[in-house]
Amino acid sequence: METISEVKTRVYRFGNKTADGNSKMKNLLGGKGANLAEMSAIGIPVPPGFTITTEVCTEYNELGKNKVVKYIKDEVKQAIKNIEGIMGTKFGDPENPLLISVRSGARVSMPGMMDTVLNLGLNDEVISGLVEKTKNERFAWDSYRRFIQMYGGVVLGMKPETKEDIDPFEEIMEHLKDKRNIELDTEFTVQDLQDLVYDFKDAVKKQTGHDFPLDPWDQLWGAIMAVFDSWNGDRAIYYRKMNGYPADWGTAVNVQAMVYGNMGQNSGTGVCFTRDAGTGENVFNGEYLINAQGEDVVAGVRTPQQITKLGSERWALLAQVKEAERAANYPSLEELMPAIFSELNDYQEKLEKHYRDMQDMEFTIQEGKLWILQTRNGKRTGAAMVKIAVDLLKEGQIDEKEALMRIEPNKLDELLHPVFDTRSINKDNIIAQGLPASPGAATGQIVFFADEADKYKYTILTRIETSPEDLEGMNIAKGILTARGGMTSHAAVVARGMGKCCVSGAGALKIDYKNRVLRVDNKEYHEGDWISLNGSTGNIIEGKVPTMEPELSGEFAEIMKLSDKYRTMKVRTNADTPKDAKAARNFGAEGIGLTRTEHMFFEVDRIRAMREMILADTIKGRKAALRDLLPMQRSDFEGIFEAMKGFPVTIRLLDPPLHEFVPHQLATQKELAEDLHISLASVKNKVADLQEFNPMLGHRGCRLGITYPEITEMQTRAIIEAALNLKEKGIEVIPEIMVPLVGTVMEFVSQENVIRSTAQKVFKERKDSVEYLVGTMIEIPRAALMADQIAEHADFFSFGTNDLTQMTYGYSRDDAGSFLGIYLKEGILTSDPFEVLDQEGVGQLVEMGTERGRKTKPDLKVGICGEHGGEPSSVDFCYRTGLNYVSCSPFRVPIARIAAAQAAIS
Ligand code: PEP
Ligand code: MG
Repeated sequence: METISEVKTRVYRFGNKTADGNSKMKNLLGGKGANLAEMSAIGIPVPPGFTITTEVCTEYNELGKNKVVKYIKDEVKQAIKNIEGIMGTKFGDPENPLLISVRSGARVSMPGMMDTVLNLGLNDEVISGLVEKTKNERFAWDSYRRFIQMYGGVVLGMKPETKEDIDPFEEIMEHLKDKRNIELDTEFTVQDLQDLVYDFKDAVKKQTGHDFPLDPWDQLWGAIMAVFDSWNGDRAIYYRKMNGYPADWGTAVNVQAMVYGNMGQNSGTGVCFTRDAGTGENVFNGEYLINAQGEDVVAGVRTPQQITKLGSERWALLAQVKEAERAANYPSLEELMPAIFSELNDYQEKLEKHYRDMQDMEFTIQEGKLWILQTRNGKRTGAAMVKIAVDLLKEGQIDEKEALMRIEPNKLDELLHPVFDTRSINKDNIIAQGLPASPGAATGQIVFFADEADKYKYTILTRIETSPEDLEGMNIAKGILTARGGMTSHAAVVARGMGKCCVSGAGALKIDYKNRVLRVDNKEYHEGDWISLNGSTGNIIEGKVPTMEPELSGEFAEIMKLSDKYRTMKVRTNADTPKDAKAARNFGAEGIGLTRTEHMFFEVDRIRAMREMILADTIKGRKAALRDLLPMQRSDFEGIFEAMKGFPVTIRLLDPPLHEFVPHQLATQKELAEDLHISLASVKNKVADLQEFNPMLGHRGCRLGITYPEITEMQTRAIIEAALNLKEKGIEVIPEIMVPLVGTVMEFVSQENVIRSTAQKVFKERKDSVEYLVGTMIEIPRAALMADQIAEHADFFSFGTNDLTQMTYGYSRDDAGSFLGIYLKEGILTSDPFEVLDQEGVGQLVEMGTERGRKTKPDLKVGICGEHGGEPSSVDFCYRTGLNYVSCSPFRVPIARIAAAQAAIS
C-alpha cells in the first residue's frame, strides 16, 4: 500500500512557457529550480527540464538511494518524456539524442559549492548520432570526453588526491599534449579526442574497478544521487557553516535539456548582469565567448569578450588594447550579433523589472537561437548594494522600507574601511594590471595555496585561478589575485560575495606552484614577499601601500539618512579617545555608550604614574600618583566631551585587574625600580602579590574602586572638572558615570556615595555644577537577577554582554579560543557567543534585567555596550527587548543604524 509520503509530488516540470512551480517555492525547489519555473512561466526561453525537490534530498539522507529511486522513478520518466516532446529529441536515442545537465540548487545560491554534470546521456552509440546530427565530429567527441571527465570527478570520485597532484583526467590530457607537442585543448584532433575518451574510460576502470556506465538511465540516477551527496561534501558544509545555513535544508536537483554554445561561430555562451556588480552603476554588462561552453567563461581559460559596446570600450582602455584591435579581435556581442543582443537586452530588462533587483544571468546561443539558462539576484559589493538600493528606490521600483531591507548591514563594512592613498602609489611599483574584480585595498604577503592562507598575518592568496576548494583560504586572506579568469570567474564572484578585495585575470603573471614563485616580465616574487592589490582599478603593486579613510557621501549618506527616518532605537559608540569619538560622530553615533578609562593609562607618559600608584604601599603614596594622573584624564575627557557635544557620554570607572598594568619582564621591572627609586625586590613582590588564578573573576571592576576609593575619587573629579571646564566654554555636556562589574546593591551604593560626594565637593570648589547620572553595567548574572533592587539607586543600566556571556556560559573570554573553533566545527555551537548574542540563554538575562529594572523605574534608560551592540541580529534582539540604545565600535555604527532601522521595519 502507498503511504502519503509516497504519493506527494517530488518532480516539478518547466519549459515551453509553462511550469508546475514558481519563484515562491524556493524552499522546495531550491533557488535555481524556482527561478527556472518562474522564468519559463513569464515567457523567457529556458531549456526545458524538471526539478527534484529538496525534500527528496532529505529523504535520500534518511532512506538511501534505492528507496528514493523507487519514489521518484515514474515522475522522472514522465518528466524526461516532456522534455523530449519539447526538444524533439529522445534520451538515449543514437539517431536523435537528448542530452541533459544535472545540477544542484539549494534555497540560496552557493556558487560552486556543489556538483554539476553536463552532457549526460552520451555513450558509445549516442556519440555517433550526435556526430551525424551536428555534422561536427570534433564537438561531439569533445563533449563526450568532457562528460566522462565531469562524471568521473563528480559521480565516480576521480579527483586529485593531494593539492600538488593534478586531476587524473588532466594528467592524461597533459600526457597526450606532450606526446603530440601541442599546448592547447583546442589543438586536439578528433582522433586525439577519441583516444582521450578511450583512455579516460580505461582510467575509470583502473581506479574504480568498474566500467564507465554507458546506460543513460544509470548515468542519470548516478548523477542525481551524486548531487544529493554533494550537499554533505566538505565544501558545502564549510559554506553552510560560514553562512549559518542549516544542514536539513537539503538541495534540489535540476535536470535540464543541454543546449550548446560550442556548435560553431553562430553559437556562444555568456554571463551578464543587469547592473554593474562592482559599482552598482545602472549599465547592462557581461562577458561572452563565441563557440564555447559555459564553464569556459568562468574557468578563465580564454579571455572573454564584453556584451555591450560600451563595456567593450571600457575593457579595452583598462587592458590597454587599441580600438582597431578591439573591434577586430574582441568585438562586443552588440556589434557581432546585434539581433541576439537586442533580444537579450529585452530579456534582461524584463527580468530585472520582474524581480525588482539586479539580476545575474547565464545564457547560451545555440546555432543562432538564444536560451536563458538562469537568472538570480546578483552578488554585489557593498558599494553596489547601496547604490542599487538607492537607484531602484529613485526609479520607483521599490519603496523606502524595501530599499532599507535590501542592505545587508555587515556588508557596509567594506565601505567603511580604508582604501589606498593613491598619491602614495609610485607608478613604477605597479607590476601588472588585472581586472578590478572586487573593490577595496589589500596589502599582504604572498601565499600560493589556499590552505596556507594563514601562514602570515596578512596574506594575498595568489593563484592561477581559484576553485571552490579554496574557499576557506580566500576567506582568511586579505586579498585574492589570479592570473586567469574574467569578472565572472570563481575568484571574482566569491570575492565580491565576501566583500574581499580581488584582482583577477592578470595575464602577465606566471605562477609556478612547485617553486612557489610569481614571475612578471623578468621580476620574481616569492612566497612571503609583500604585494598590494587595488580591487577598484586592478593594479597589482609591489610592497606595502599606505591606506586612507573612505568617503561616506552620495548614496551611502542617503541610505543612512533613510535609516534614521525609520529607526527608533539610538546608536551610540564605544570610544576611548577624542579621535575615535570624532570618527564615530562622522559615522552618526548619537553619544558614547562606553569609554573604557583604563585604555588611557596604557600610553607611555601615563603608565609610569599608573604603576607608581599601583606600587604605592600607602594611601598617601597612591594619592600622590593619582594627582599626576588627574590632569591627563581630565584633558582626555574634555576632548571626548567636546567631540560629543550635546550628546550623552558614558564614562566607566577603572575595570581591569591591576596586574595588567605592571611589568612582567625582568628588564622592565628593573627599569621601573630604578625609575621609582625602589628596590627590584619590592617591584617583584608587588607583581607577585597581584598575581591571581582567575583574574577575570578577581580583583577588578567596582571591587577596585571599593578597595581603593581614591581611584574612584580621582576619576570622578576628572570627569566633573572636565564637564565644568567645557560648560564654561558654552559647550553642552551630558556625563554619565558608570560603575563596572556590580553584582550586589551595596557594591553600587558604596561607589555611588564616593562619586556623588566627590562631585559635590568639586561643585562647591568651583561654585558651579552640571547635571550628571550615575548608573551601572549589568554584566554579572546576579546583577540581572537583582535588577529591581539595583534600579532603586542606579540612574541607568548598560548591559556588558561580553562579561555577561563569559559568566553565563562559564567560558573565559581570554581562553575560549582553544575550544570554540572545535565547538563551531562540531555544531555544538552555531555561532561564537562572544560575537553573536546568545538570545536564547544570555538574552534571557538581558530581558530579565530590563524588565526588573523598569519595574522599579519605568523610564530607566537601558543600553548595551558589549561587542554585540554592532552585530545585526543582536541589534534586532535589543530592539525587541526595548533597549533605548546600542553602543558599538565607531566602524560598526552605520551597520547598527541600518540594523536598527530594519528591526523597526520588520
Ligand atoms: C562587557 O563586559 O561587555 C563590556 C563592555 O566591558 P569590557 O569588555 O570592557 O569588559
Ligand atoms: Mg565588562
